[in-house]
Amino acid sequence: KNITGMIENILPERVFKTLLDVGAMADELGFKCYLVGGVVRDILLRKTNEDIDIVVEGSAPEFAKSFADRHGARAAVHAKFKTAVVIFPDGFRVDFATSRTEYYHFPASAPMVEDASIKNDLFRRDFSINAMAVKLNKREFGTLLDFFGGQRDLQDKKIRVLHSLSFVDDPSRALRAVRFAVRFDFMIGPHTDRLFRHAVNLDLFERVQGQRMFLELKYILSEKNYKKALRMMRKYDLLKFFHKDLRLDERKEAQFDSLEMILDWYRFQFDEEPELYIARMAVLFSDLEKSAVKDILERFQLDEHKTLEHSECFKQVKDSLAWLKRSKKMPNSVFTRHMSRMATPCALAVSALVGEIFEKQVKDYFSVYRYVKPDIGGNDLLAMKIEPKTEYSNLLSAVKDAKIDGKCTDRESQLRFVAELALKNGEK
Ligand code: ATP
Repeated sequence: KNITGMIENILPERVFKTLLDVGAMADELGFKCYLVGGVVRDILLRKTNEDIDIVVEGSAPEFAKSFADRHGARAAVHAKFKTAVVIFPDGFRVDFATSRTEYYHFPASAPMVEDASIKNDLFRRDFSINAMAVKLNKREFGTLLDFFGGQRDLQDKKIRVLHSLSFVDDPSRALRAVRFAVRFDFMIGPHTDRLFRHAVNLDLFERVQGQRMFLELKYILSEKNYKKALRMMRKYDLLKFFHKDLRLDERKEAQFDSLEMILDWYRFQFDEEPELYIARMAVLFSDLEKSAVKDILERFQLDEHKTLEHSECFKQVKDSLAWLKRSKKMPNSVFTRHMSRMATPCALAVSALVGEIFEKQVKDYFSVYRYVKPDIGGNDLLAMKIEPKTEYSNLLSAVKDAKIDGKCTDRESQLRFVAELALKNGEK
C-alpha cells in the first residue's frame, strides 16, 4: 500500500518536502530511511503530527550530519545511542535513530541494543498502531510497512502489544496504553488486557525508572481526556505505583472539573495556555501528606531545578489552601500578594481547590490586580525628600496595595498617601 497522497495531504508542505529530501539523500548515501512511530499512526488516522521520527538502516548520526550540511541545518549527535536530531534554523526538528533491536535480560531492565533491520526495529515497539513505517527512499517512497496488524487495529480501535512479554520487558508501556486508549477512544485488546493485569500483579513498576514514571504521568495529564485516563489507571490499580495513598474519588473528580472551568476561563481571557500538567498534578496530589509528595518527587528523580520547581508548587498549593480556608475573607491586596508568589499553574490549582467563595477574587486577581502598578515612582519620593531610600520599595508596595484596595487610585492621592505613611514611619 502506498500512502504518499495521504502524507502529502495531511502533513504540512515543508514537512512533506523534508521527507522527500530524506529519501533522496538516503539513495545517495546507500542507506534505507523510514518514517516511523506516532506520525505514521496519525497520518492513517488523518491527523497531523509534526514530531518526525526517522529510522535509518545504516548510521543515523552519519546520515543526519550529511543531511544537516546539505540543508543548512544543525545536527546534534548522540553517539552512544546512535541517534541524532537535525534542527533547522526556524526550529523545526527531525529525529533520526539507527535501526535497532532490543533484548531484555530480566524484567524492566535496561535493554541490550543491537543494530537490526527495520522489521526488528518495529518489533521492539510498544503497540501495533505505533509499529508501522513508511519507506522514504525515492523508488518506493510512501510504501507502508505494517508487519504486525497496525492498520487492522486502528480500524478495530484496539491497543495491542506485539508479544506476551511486552509489559514485563517495560511496564511503563501500561501507562502508554492508557494514554493512547484514552486519546483515541480505543479499547485495550482482550489479550493485552490480561497481560496488563498480569504485569500489575507482578509489581514490576518499582523497577521502572523514576523519570519515565514522571514523564508518562506528565503525558497522561497533558491529554484532553486525562480524567478518563486516571479512571482507567484506577481500574487497573496503577495509581498505587505513584503512591499508595493516591486516590481518585468523586471529590477529586469534582476538583478536576473546577480546574477545567478555571482553565477555560483563563484561556479565553488571556489567549494563553498555562502548563496544564503542573496544575493538574497539583490537584491530583493535593490531598496527600507533604511527606508523600516528597516521596513521589524523590522517586521521579528529576534534576534539581525541576524537583525544586515542582515541590515548591505542590507545597504552595497545600499551604495556600489551608490558609485561604482559614481566612475566608481578606482585602484584595493581601490576596494579590499571596497569589503572585505562585507560578500561574499553581495559582490556578489553588483557585480550583479553594472553591466558590474566592471565585470573584481569583478572577479579579488574574484580570486586574496582578497587573496593578503604583502611578508614582522613586523619583517622586526623591523629590519629596523622603529618607531613607532603602524604604522606597516598601513604600511603593504599600502604595500598590492601597491602589488595589481602591484607597488611592490616582497620582495625587498616592502622593498624599505616601507622604502620610513616611511621616507615620517617622521618616522624612
Ligand atoms: P505522541 O503522539 O504522544 O508523541 P508517540 O507515539 O509519538 O506519541 P513517543 O513517546 O514520541 O510516542 O514515541 C515514539 C515511538 O517510539 C512510539 O510511537 C513507539 O513506536 C516507540 N516507543 C516509545 N516508547 C516506547 C516504549 N516504552 N516501548 C516501546 N516502544 C516505544
